[in-house]
Amino acid sequence: MSAKTILLTNDDGIDAPGLAALESSLRGLGRIIVAAPDREQSGASHALTLGRPLRVLPRGDGRFQVDGTPADCVHLGVFNLTGGRPPDLVVSGINRGANLGDDVTYSGTVAGALEGTLLHIPSIAVSAEVDADGSAHFELAAALARSLAERVVAGGLPANVFLNVNVPRGPAKGVRVTRQGTRTYKAAAIERLDPSGRPYYWIGGADMIPAGEEDGDHEALRQGYVSISPLHANMTHAASLAEIAAWKVELP
Ligand code: MN
Repeated sequence: MSAKTILLTNDDGIDAPGLAALESSLRGLGRIIVAAPDREQSGASHALTLGRPLRVLPRGDGRFQVDGTPADCVHLGVFNLTGGRPPDLVVSGINRGANLGDDVTYSGTVAGALEGTLLHIPSIAVSAEVDADGSAHFELAAALARSLAERVVAGGLPANVFLNVNVPRGPAKGVRVTRQGTRTYKAAAIERLDPSGRPYYWIGGADMIPAGEEDGDHEALRQGYVSISPLHANMTHAASLAEIAAWKVELP
C-alpha cells in the first residue's frame, strides 16, 4: 500500500506550538503536508476568501503558509498543494483552547475539519483546554491525534461525519464520546469608552455558562475526560422536515 497523505491545518497560525506538536506526533504516518494561516485566525469560522487572491509562501519541506483562513488552507491543500493527490486525512489543530458546544460554529479549527469533510476527506479537529494561566499542554492531545489518525486512515469515518476532539487541562481520567453541548452567555459583550469618550465593544470577554448536558462535550471536560464528538457536516434537521412541510407554505 502506498504511503498516505495527511494534510494539517490550524487556526492559531503556522508558527503555533500546537501545530508543531501535531506535526511531530503524526510524523512517520505518511506524507505530511502543512497548509496553515500566516496569522491567528481563531474565530474565523468557515470563511472562504473570495474577494482577493491568496498568496502561498513555502515554509520548508511540505509546509505552506497561506494569507487566508483555515478553510482556505484546506481548500488549497486538497486541490493545489498536495501534488495532484488529494490527502487521505485532514487534521486541524492542535488548537490552544477548547472548542466545545455552540462554539464549534465560530471555530476556525473545527472549520478546517469541516472543509475537509465537505471535500469528502476524513477529518479530525483537535483542541486542548488551556490552564488558568492561559498555557496549554499539547502532549496528550498530540498522542491522541496520532492514534485517532491511524484509526481513521485505516477505517475511515461515516460519510459527512468528522471528529471534534477536546482534551482537558490536567491529567485525563478517560475518554467519552459526547454530543455537541450548548451554553448561554451570562453577560453581553464588554462595553467601555475609548480615550475620546466613544463606546467600544469587545465580544468574548464575558463569562459563559454551559448548559451542562450529561452526555455533552462541556461536561466531559469539566469532569476531566477527553471528549470526542462525531459532528455532521449537513445541518438539515431531518426530524423537523415533516413538521415544517405540514405548514404547507405557499407563495404569497
Ligand atoms: Mn485557535
